[in-house]
Amino acid sequence: MGYDIPSDHHQSLPREIKREEKMKKERYFSDEHIASILYYLAEACNKNAVEHGFWEDEDKFFRVIELREKFMSEDSIKKLKDRIISLFNSEKIALEMSELAERLETLRKDPEKKDEHCPEFLDVEIEVVDLIIRALDFAGRRKLNIGEALIAKMKYNQSRPYLHEKKF
Ligand SMILES: [Mg+2]
Repeated sequence: MGYDIPSDHHQSLPREIKREEKMKKERYFSDEHIASILYYLAEACNKNAVEHGFWEDEDKFFRVIELREKFMSEDSIKKLKDRIISLFNSEKIALEMSELAERLETLRKDPEKKDEHCPEFLDVEIEVVDLIIRALDFAGRRKLNIGEALIAKMKYNQSRPYLHEKKF
């Protein structure tokens, strides 16, 4: 599908450069390329989260269930595993929401504030990234097809009417 650079971006560029930019954009940012970058990022964010213990408790619950497997029916095991997954899903979503709250707070207090751990960036930039990292970790863990889903949803959004026919 490719992505449209905002229309005013090219206005001051000579025609040849415009064409080169378009070719570069198509060569380096195909749908497949974007999707594979997302898969890579989801894997990388999940790997780091696993290495830092953020999924250890869920794994422990699964191991406990495995130990009890011969005393439980297949149906009970499945129900329990699904319940554990839904509880951890809820926890991860709550943590994503905490990153949204942190972004709101930093904008309320001081939008120009530098981040404490990465002082070359604004706090608000890091809070946006925190949210993305948490979402990618979740997608990586649950093996979600976010790469192709993002392309599909952006394509759909491009086809939607002004304000998606909502009030705002
Ligand atoms: Mg944060």
